[in-house]
Amino acid sequence: MEGLLGDENHLLSGLIKRSQSGFFTVETEIGDLVCTLRGRLKRGKPSGDIAAIGDRVRVRRLENGTGLIEEIEPRDRMISRRAPLPGGEYEQIIIANPDQLAVVFACANPEPRLRMLDRFLVIAEKQEIPAVIIANKIDLVEFKTALEIFGHYRDVGYKVIYTSAHTGYGLDEFKGCLEKKITALTGPSGAGKTSLLNAIHPGFGLAVREVSRATRKGKHTTVISEMFPLPGGGYVADTPGLRSLALWDIEPEELDAYFPEIRPLVSACQFSDCTHLHEPGCAVREAVEHGKIHPQRYESYVRLRMGEDAW
Ligand code: GDP
Ligand code: ZN
Repeated sequence: MEGLLGDENHLLSGLIKRSQSGFFTVETEIGDLVCTLRGRLKRGKPSGDIAAIGDRVRVRRLENGTGLIEEIEPRDRMISRRAPLPGGEYEQIIIANPDQLAVVFACANPEPRLRMLDRFLVIAEKQEIPAVIIANKIDLVEFKTALEIFGHYRDVGYKVIYTSAHTGYGLDEFKGCLEKKITALTGPSGAGKTSLLNAIHPGFGLAVREVSRATRKGKHTTVISEMFPLPGGGYVADTPGLRSLALWDIEPEELDAYFPEIRPLVSACQFSDCTHLHEPGCAVREAVEHGKIHPQRYESYVRLRMGEDAW
């Protein structure tokens, strides 16, 4: 084949760091290569993204210095959304192989909307991604207040890191949590994502924000997506697309499985198709009454189950 460099069988292993309109920047042992997808990868798979940031790939370097993605390794996991298209659906991959989802909320200013947090957590559970809660702006409230807001998430099994980008509180723990991992970052705007990233690595947050800004301006939901390498190893990607992940991606009947504190009780309900809203003999409502499930979490479950928009 024309244009191929060196041994035709030699493929480089790499990681997709950036994706923009069919062009992928792949990090390889010989540096970053801008690649396109080999034609045959595109065949017979029109219903979703073929490659995305976070994908581990095998690329062939071409003479002109660009590359061809020849193979995409099977994904451990991914965050994806079903994007409606005229005449069908399209599975958009927001990020492949994330190790975790870090959800940043402020303890105050803006007031934390826990319904929104619970919705992010449901998404993480559905996609089987460990979630970490970053409770930022701890300098604005008493620590006691922060614990009242976020403390019970720890009982459910989520890691909660209390931080202040302004005073530096908790930043070592935040930094350590990102190290050597691929982290999808989300949270409401104003929570302090950019400030936190800047605080652990000067300029880092701004670089991440620029991309999500550019993405939001685009006509399509994901124009550019990019993971940024951390100096200590690991990558962070802002995932604005996650916020538009519609609840219709989740069937109401499966919702109880995505609340870790509800999940183990479901089999104890009297009715196997219990919605945990009003049935007699409901083990979930009993647990709420006995204070074993936090009332706010149950309230979130109810709202989401009823299909109310939580954003
Ligand atoms: P983003 O939209 O999530 O990226 O949030 P930004 O990083 O832009 O922060 C929004 C505002 O909150 C800015 O005015 C920051 O200076 C402020 N901010 C960020 N982190 C903290 C914090 O820990 N404490 C306080 N008091 N303000 C913060
Ligand atoms: Zn029940």
